[in-house]
Amino acid sequence: METKNKQEVVEEFLKKCRRLGLNVTPQRLVIYQALVNDSTHPSPEMVYQKIKPIHPTISLATVYKTLETFEKHGLVAVVTNLHNTVRYDPLTKRHHHLVCVRCKKIVDIEDPELDALKIPEVVTKNNVLIDFSVHFKVICEECRKKE
Ligand SMILES: [Zn+2]
Ligand SMILES: [Zn+2]
Repeated sequence: METKNKQEVVEEFLKKCRRLGLNVTPQRLVIYQALVNDSTHPSPEMVYQKIKPIHPTISLATVYKTLETFEKHGLVAVVTNLHNTVRYDPLTKRHHHLVCVRCKKIVDIEDPELDALKIPEVVTKNNVLIDFSVHFKVICEECRKKE
């Protein structure tokens, strides 16, 4: 995300919190900002490691709890079923992911053609489709260079 874009995302977050009546404590803001400033779709541990040097009073348990609260309110999304750890995503609208199977990096892909993917009938026949996301599993350039 670009810097200007990030500010907008944080402002949008604050607006949504106000609408939801969710208290934006300094800790919550720090955790959200850490998530927005990290393009790797971090796990709670990764967020914690990042903020620990600057905010030593925030515990790992708080990071876990806060991200869960954000998710419950639709303020962040969970990238599901990847590498057996929960990875959080500040982008909650439909988008897709490039996932490196080696370094576990997750990169956002925004592509209108993927958004318009033809949904197989088996999906829509007896179900209500809520959302979908395409994951491309790759070995990324950096990891390839290490081979
Ligand atoms: Zn990689
Ligand atoms: Zn994403």
